[in-house]
Amino acid sequence: KPVIGVLALQGDVREHLAALEHAGAAARPVRRPEELAAVDGIVLPGGESTTMSRLLESFELLEPLRDRIADGLPAYGSCAGMILLARQVLDGRPDQRQLDALDVVVRRNAFGRQVDSFEGDLDFAGLDDGPVHAVFIRAPWVEKAGDGVEILARVPDTAGAGDAAARIVAIRQGPVLATAFHPELTGDERVHRLFVGMVHETM
Ligand code: GLN
Repeated sequence: KPVIGVLALQGDVREHLAALEHAGAAARPVRRPEELAAVDGIVLPGGESTTMSRLLESFELLEPLRDRIADGLPAYGSCAGMILLARQVLDGRPDQRQLDALDVVVRRNAFGRQVDSFEGDLDFAGLDDGPVHAVFIRAPWVEKAGDGVEILARVPDTAGAGDAAARIVAIRQGPVLATAFHPELTGDERVHRLFVGMVHETM
């Protein structure tokens, strides 16, 4: 069984731990560098990226996490986690730190300008047994993606999607996966299974 950590400084840690266990991993909360060193993959949960960034620094996890991901540790970020993994954030706080693991520019609170949350059914590349029901909560979207970034899902171009129509909301670059939405909240474990499979490939 792969051992997958969930960064447990802030955010919806418990939901990710449960989803990972259901998806066949041994899930562990990670708060200390020693705990980070013992995992085969890491999940960065939804929450508040500015707070998580600050806590990463005070728990002395920012550099170790950046280094391990740069060395190939598989990582999956949902929502705030996607923001942390990105190379650049728009509408972030000036002191917000990035893990620089995905060659993307994300816009923070992108959906929040009109409505705080938004839900929709998305086609997700590689998940063939039906659309993924995506819940967005003060979510980012990907505003720009580099050539090496695989686009896995976009907001459907339907009436009501407004500015969000066709925005990129799920991506993968090598062993790094990110979604702007929260599969840990809907009981659909396919995204977590995808990540557990990615971790397996590196073991
Ligand atoms: N708006 C939050 C941020 O900027 C993300 C929200 C979420 O993770 N649900 O970090």
